[in-house]
Amino acid sequence: MRDKKIIIGNWKMAPKNIRDAKATFQNIRSIASKLQNVQTVIAAPYVYLSELKKLETGHRCVVGAQDVSFESDDPHTGEVSADMLKSIGVQHVIVGHSERRAKGETNEDVSKKVIAAAKKGLIVVVCVGELERDEEGEYTLYIKEQVMQSLADIPKKYLGQIIVAYEPVWAIGVKAKREATPEDVLEMRIFLRKVLIDMFGDRKGAAVPVLYGGSVNQKNAFAYIHGCEMQGLLVGRASLKPAVFEKILTLANGS
Ligand code: PEP
Repeated sequence: MRDKKIIIGNWKMAPKNIRDAKATFQNIRSIASKLQNVQTVIAAPYVYLSELKKLETGHRCVVGAQDVSFESDDPHTGEVSADMLKSIGVQHVIVGHSERRAKGETNEDVSKKVIAAAKKGLIVVVCVGELERDEEGEYTLYIKEQVMQSLADIPKKYLGQIIVAYEPVWAIGVKAKREATPEDVLEMRIFLRKVLIDMFGDRKGAAVPVLYGGSVNQKNAFAYIHGCEMQGLLVGRASLKPAVFEKILTLANGS
């Protein structure tokens, strides 16, 4: 799977109902299932996961979760464990998204979630990203600390299940200040690779896939994925628009 580009659609708290969720997933699946060089993961709200799982037709387009608890059993009202996700066949989970961090999730929480999910065999997409960019380059220190703390204490045997998604908060969502330039993204890809190699060694650190996320659309996707040599993309708003997402997937596929 790892030689494929990984495109993750983060649906956040959408679509509004299961009927629309099924229709959107089916639309995306009809395109994604034809693409040999891409694995598509749709991170849907928990309540839709079981129904959407039934619509999967293979490994090219699968359903994932947007969060997971680090706790393994009750009492934790409202939480969903890694075992629960596994029990319905979900394999991928996003952890540490900036919208969860904004609600108080710390690097320590993220690290506990990463370990809990990886131990259960899930593939964990760990989001990191600075809030602002400054002229002095302080943001690189912020990212380094975020990566080191979010991946703290993870046993090396689980590294094959880790994906890092670089998502600068200033470039995400409707409140984005601007799109990241390919230069912004390339700089961080190189920097993140160095941080990962320093943490885990040449071979294992080089093997962790790094994705880009933040206002990806059909116009900028090619530059991010091919120009910046990202191993994939994390796509928010555009993943709910099948025609736009189709273009992004096709560009990532290289056809
Ligand atoms: C996201 O929230 O992870 C994201 C990348 O959103 P958008 O693509 O809408 O900026």
